[in-house]
Amino acid sequence: MLEIVQIPVLEDNYLYLIHDPVSGDTAIVDPAVEDEVVAELGARGWRLTHIFNTHHHLDHTGANLALKARYGATVVGAAIDRERIPGIDIAVGDGDQVHLGNVAADVYFVPGHTSGHIAYHFPTAKALFSGDTLFSMGCGRTFEGTHAQMWQSLSTLMALPDDTLNHCAHEYTAANGAFALTLEPNNIALIERMKAVKQLRLNNKPTVPSTLGQEKQTNPFLRPMSEEIQNTLGMIGGPLPAIFSQIRKLKDTF
Ligand SMILES: [Zn+2]
Repeated sequence: MLEIVQIPVLEDNYLYLIHDPVSGDTAIVDPAVEDEVVAELGARGWRLTHIFNTHHHLDHTGANLALKARYGATVVGAAIDRERIPGIDIAVGDGDQVHLGNVAADVYFVPGHTSGHIAYHFPTAKALFSGDTLFSMGCGRTFEGTHAQMWQSLSTLMALPDDTLNHCAHEYTAANGAFALTLEPNNIALIERMKAVKQLRLNNKPTVPSTLGQEKQTNPFLRPMSEEIQNTLGMIGGPLPAIFSQIRKLKDTF
């Protein structure tokens, strides 16, 4: 079974080490920085073999070249973003598989936040690495894509099993939840989750990862079908992409 280690860096970024004890292979997902990764690897006696990038933003690729130079790690990124992923060795797209030892991850193309964003899903570990696409109770801003693309991408991820753990790249949960409550003040699952989130943050503990099941119950960006949200927005019975788009617009200025 894979071992996954969460490394908090910068203001609110999460990096993830993924270690396969059978082969010894170890990947870092979205290395924003070098030092914390080197320290964590050293403490565990692991050697970096792979860098998995979800998208090109600097706070996800900033240490690609330094870590590649130090360990000879193989850089995996989106083929469509070949020019924007520093040091890319293996260019992948939707439906491809990448391996850590003998453990496979499925690659999903999930554009919206950027035009080349991908996610990595390890079915046997029930682990999804969604970068800046699906946050806990939120989703990424659509810097390079359309709302329609983002809704499609989230729908793709939503189809994965409910017990999948979503490892996103930022600790935005408390602010996301505050926004969610403005749309669904009577959502019991949301109210309960926010209590837990507040307690975790008070103790400076991460609220990430969460399960897709939790997200489906509490994340407004996965819930344009919610009657309460539709009622709040005055969009009862409206098309789901349009309701999603309205939620995204409101969050942009929240
Ligand atoms: Zn980003």
